[in-house]
Amino acid sequence: MVVDPEKTAAGEASEATPLLQKSGPVVSPQACYQHQLLLRCFLNLKNTVSKATGLFKAEYDYEIKSEVDPIARQSMVEERRWSIYTSRAVHRYSVWWAQILADSEMSSCEKCSISEKPCARHSGWSWTGDELPPLDVLMIFHALTLHHRSFGEDCFRHKKMALWNEGFPLQLVSQCIEPDNLTYSCPESCKLHFEGMTKLAWDNVDDSGGVSIECPRCQNQTVVPWSTRRRKGLAEELLQYCQSCKYGLGNHVLVVRKLRQDLYLLLRRDLPLPGTCWSVEEKHGILTPNKAPNEFVKRYLMSMLLEETRPTNLFPNISQTIESLGRTVVKPALPMIHDIFEHYQYVENSSCNLRAAVTRVLESASAMQDTNLSETDFDSPHMVTQYIAFLRGQGKGFLSGGPDLSEIDLTDPTMWVWSTHLLTPRSYSEFFRRVGNGLPVDWQPPHSPKCSLCLTMRPPSFARRFFQGLVSLSAWKEFMEAAA
Ligand SMILES: [Zn+2]
Ligand SMILES: [Zn+2]
Repeated sequence: MVVDPEKTAAGEASEATPLLQKSGPVVSPQACYQHQLLLRCFLNLKNTVSKATGLFKAEYDYEIKSEVDPIARQSMVEERRWSIYTSRAVHRYSVWWAQILADSEMSSCEKCSISEKPCARHSGWSWTGDELPPLDVLMIFHALTLHHRSFGEDCFRHKKMALWNEGFPLQLVSQCIEPDNLTYSCPESCKLHFEGMTKLAWDNVDDSGGVSIECPRCQNQTVVPWSTRRRKGLAEELLQYCQSCKYGLGNHVLVVRKLRQDLYLLLRRDLPLPGTCWSVEEKHGILTPNKAPNEFVKRYLMSMLLEETRPTNLFPNISQTIESLGRTVVKPALPMIHDIFEHYQYVENSSCNLRAAVTRVLESASAMQDTNLSETDFDSPHMVTQYIAFLRGQGKGFLSGGPDLSEIDLTDPTMWVWSTHLLTPRSYSEFFRRVGNGLPVDWQPPHSPKCSLCLTMRPPSFARRFFQGLVSLSAWKEFMEAAA
């Protein structure tokens, strides 16, 4: 039987819409308004940080100094300041995230963690007024929440499903924002709580100028700076040397180490790899581990990947590893490998490229800066219908090759209803299952046709394989004769 997705969706629409309308707005206009205020507060932070001359030691690097146009130079240094600040914020967020209470190691309820559904019972945690993190950390957490699928995966893989159930503390946060000057001020108890929990300073700029990382070769710690005048710090193209053994510490080393840790988590604790935690069952996206890719990696790729990522490997190179996977893996398995390895293109231990996510959110926010929507703008009687139509439209896009959300226009109130709904992930996930198709739509940009990962994975031509010594001379002769 062939099911026409158009027809099915239309059939569901007539049943679902009156029911949803009766239940009132999914997101209150007040929450949308508070959300808008929060984004303005993030923009205000960006503005303040960018303009704070002398904020970071190496902010005037060689490239900026050699720029002759003073206006271009100014915007370059502002951009660089913000970039260093964001990298530090991502690191601070990761420390904070790691310290957030994990779902208790339930022995009797081990199966609960396998699927999203049974965890509904797990609700023994909620935000309190003194748990709010500093604004920079909040900004990263907010961007991740909008990337719903990645957030779900992080909560699942890092065992923080309570956070998935609880969502983003919009109400509490908005109590700390002064609407007139868009500043964020928390009670002293938040500061004490955060500093005690993370051993970091409350204010981003009060943290030290570097981070200690473990050398994979000799296991000694080396402090690497956030930025240097030649842009070789953690916030840029990292290249530092281990103080004990002179091993070159670059981003690739950190990415390879992350991969190795994840492989061991899969082997020893059966924890699925990133990019494999969502499945589509009967057209509905569900946060549940996808067995096939994990089994595939375990059975066919594990020994090769463990060999490539071994700490004694002097020149670990993730691109080369992916390239050789492209050669060895059968073609139908490539999309599976793609979904996994797109998470090894950046350093952070999250299913979301957090820096890119923050940039994306702030770009959309800054594009609507001159439009100030009021609570009544979110209160249109047709809002729910419009919202459902939007989700459904994107869902259809999923069936025909992915939603087109390359730009999110925040001057449209529907986009605020959607984005604000994303801040309560559990509710959004359930709602989307009722009205949409496939995986829930979120802020993740559509797959780029120029994706560098796809290019790396593409199996090389026969000729290239021959020159790389992967094809024998006789096979090469046969190929040439056949081609002649
Ligand atoms: Zn070393
Ligand atoms: Zn790709």
